[in-house]
Amino acid sequence: MSSSCAFCRIARGEEKAYVVYEDEHVIAFLDINPISEGHILVAPKRHYERLSCMPSDELEALARGLQRVLVMVERGLSRDYNVVVNTGRGAGQVVMHVHVHVVPRYPGDGLRVTMTQRHRLTEEEAVRVLTKLNEAKAGTGS
Ligand code: 5GP
Ligand code: ZN
Repeated sequence: MSSSCAFCRIARGEEKAYVVYEDEHVIAFLDINPISEGHILVAPKRHYERLSCMPSDELEALARGLQRVLVMVERGLSRDYNVVVNTGRGAGQVVMHVHVHVVPRYPGDGLRVTMTQRHRLTEEEAVRVLTKLNEAKAGTGS
């Protein structure tokens, strides 16, 4: 738990946030600069920088909390939403405490949250990627 981390302070109740869901492991609150109405951040109460750092029981608790929030969003706001986790500064992560963005979508909102810049997968690219990932898998011993 870090005092310099805004989400740790929110989890401890030291900083104001509009909390929409909370349990022993997870806290969910409204984003201070929402992309759309009802933009929610779902975070573990303990500080982890990225999903890959989390113990599996904490990750399971986060998934359960996320699911509870998603059901609330579907019932209360919209059945359409984007779920996004920015990981690493190069991917747009600004707050280095794991959080899942839930961005409700509304008809005609004109938002471009989806991944739009695409190219056609080639055989060469696929082999390159699979080789790197298989080497990484072998390196982790799993
Ligand atoms: P990231 O770019 O790290 O995935 O997203 C961080 C998110 O946290 C941003 O959407 C930003 O608006 C939100 N945020 C940053 N500081 C605070 C805060 O103190 N309180 C709340 N409620 N949201 C915050
Ligand atoms: Zn933190």
